[in-house]
Order: sequence, then structure tokens, then C-alpha cells
Amino acid sequence: MYPAVIEDYQRPASIDEALKAAARYDAGEALFLAGGQSLMQAMKSRLVRPRCVIDLQAVKDLKGVSASGAGVRIGAMTRYVEIAKEAKLKGAYGALGDAAAHVGDRQVRNRGTIGGSLCWNYLAACMPAANLGVGSSMELISASGKKRTLVADEFIKGPLDTARTDDEVLVATTLPAAPSKAGSAYKKWGLVTDALPVIGVAVYVELDGGGAISKARFAVGGLATGPKRAKGAEAALIGKKASDAAAIAAAAEKASAELETQSDLWADSAYRKNLIRSLGGEMIALASKRAAGQ
Ligand SMILES: Cc1cc2nc3c(=O)[nH]c(=O)nc-3n(C[C@H](O)[C@H](O)[C@H](O)COP(=O)(O)OP(=O)(O)OC[C@H]3O[C@@H](n4cnc5c(N)ncnc54)[C@H](O)[C@@H]3O)c2cc1C
Repeated sequence: MYPAVIEDYQRPASIDEALKAAARYDAGEALFLAGGQSLMQAMKSRLVRPRCVIDLQAVKDLKGVSASGAGVRIGAMTRYVEIAKEAKLKGAYGALGDAAAHVGDRQVRNRGTIGGSLCWNYLAACMPAANLGVGSSMELISASGKKRTLVADEFIKGPLDTARTDDEVLVATTLPAAPSKAGSAYKKWGLVTDALPVIGVAVYVELDGGGAISKARFAVGGLATGPKRAKGAEAALIGKKASDAAAIAAAAEKASAELETQSDLWADSAYRKNLIRSLGGEMIALASKRAAGQ
């Protein structure tokens, strides 16, 4: 399949140039191109028919991972391959490295970006669930120069939907400075290892001085309604020791019960619930281990 005719291709060198290019078109007529791993397929199948493609690959300000006292900032155009080996994300934000390391195959990881995955927000995608799990925020800027920051819970909506407006560029994902005893983990399960998963689970925990869980986030991807948090499971983990296998299993069970799962060609609803239960327990244990510095 070939895309429909594209009238205009722009390759800006700055965010400002990218926004100016977008402002020349009506909403939805100009699309930003990141790694192209979803957009090119969507253009070829004519799911989208942009008049203009604005290629962000030469915009240096959108690339790279930096750390400061405020936390970690990941440029929207940072590729999976870079995130997978990024030392600044180990421990507290290890879930992002876990997700990036297992997205698709080597080619996809060398082209695809965190920003592209978040903006596309495919229902089974790893990055939306992992970002919801660790509680990151999205920095956006619009053609009018208006900047805003949305937490993942606000930014990520239903499948293929986010709070981003057509004239906004996602600039970066930010992660607050984590306490010393924080850890996160993500794992996906799919019918094919180098493709989108059936279910992916991300867990973030903080431990108090006595080794009990003081904060927890539990997010699941692969649901028909888009990535969701299991807030009952999160509440069930508070005050529990990471070594308490029964408490971990009970929290994973709660997540499996509280989230609505669908039956489709890849798995039935009960199987998805089993995956949430088994991956959930495994990820709570791994995130807790990382939080304890093990
Ligand atoms: C074979 C294959 C296997 C895959 N397996 C997996 C998998 O296991 N797990 C998984 O999570 N995903 C998987 N994917 C999807 C992959 O992760 C895509 O890379 C991702 O969905 C899109 O990222 P991208 O950088 O390629 O963005 P693009 O495809 O270039 O863009 C996607 C969308 O985001 C918009 N956009 C991109 N960047 C910005 C920005 N900075 N600001 C505003 N809008 C922006 C674009 O306009 C477009 O609408 C797979 C894809 C393929 C082809």
C-alpha cells in the first residue's frame, strides 16, 4: 500500500520551526513524524491522510535523557534503544527501561521513540502503560507558544487518544526525583515476543524505613479501554512488606478482579485476567526488590 499524496514534507531543526510549520495547516492536516513505526503504517493503510508531514528527526532539543535535582527528563524523540540502556532510569524508573528493551524487534527499537508511542497510545503499547505506572508527566507546547504539563493519568486517554491537541508537540516526559527506596518494573506477555503484547503490567513502589510499601502504582496495558491503573491493588499494597508473598498475591488478584478485560482473537477475558494476576505478582516483587536496592 502506498500513502495518499502528501503535498508537503518539512524537516525542521527546532521546536519553533516545527510549530510554525504545523500552524500553516488546519487541525489534523499536518502530522508530526517521529520514528514512523506507527505513523507510516497508518498512512499506508490510509487510516490517516495528512497534507503535510513534519519530520522531527533533526530537532535536537527533543532528544536525550537528562537528570537534575528535580528528576529525570526524557526528550520525546529519544529512541527505545537509548532508553533501554539508560543508567539514569535504573531502579525507580526501571519500568521504562524494561518496556523499551522489549518493544518490537531491533529495527523498531532503533527507530521508535517514547514520544511517538505516547502520542499514538495504541491500546496494547508498552510505553503508555509503563508511563502510567511510574507516574510521569508530559511537557507540551502549542503553535501559539502555550506550554502545559499533564500527568500521565490526564494525558493518556482511550485507545489512540490522548489529551494532546493537534497543534501541540510533545516535548518531553518528566519523572520527579524519586526517594532512595523506590523501584519499578514492567513486563509484557504476547503471542509473539517481538510484537505488541496481549497484556503488559507496570508497577512502581516506594518503601518506608521498615521495608513496608508506602506508595504503589499498578498500571495495565492491553485493555480495550486503554491503559488503566488498578487502584484497589495499589491500596491493598500499602503497609505490606515486600517479603509478604501472600499480600503480593492478594494485590495482584485484586488488580485482576477490578480491571475489565476483553475477549478477542489474541486472548479471552479470563486469560487476560490470569496474565494480570501472574505478571502483576511478578512485577510487584521485582519493583520492591529494586526499591530495596537488590
Ligand atoms: C513490527 C512492530 C512491532 C512493534 N511492537 C511493539 C511492542 O512490542 N510494544 C510497543 O509498545 N509498541 C510496538 N510497536 C509500535 C512502536 O512502539 C511504535 O514505534 C510506536 O507506537 C510509535 O512511535 P514512533 O516514534 O515510531 O512514532 P510515529 O509512528 O512516528 O508517530 C506516532 C504518532 O505520534 C505522533 N507524534 C510522534 N511524536 C510526536 C511528538 N513529539 N509530538 C506530537 N506528536 C507526535 C505522530 O504524529 C503520530 O500520530 C511495534 C511496531 C512495529 C512496526
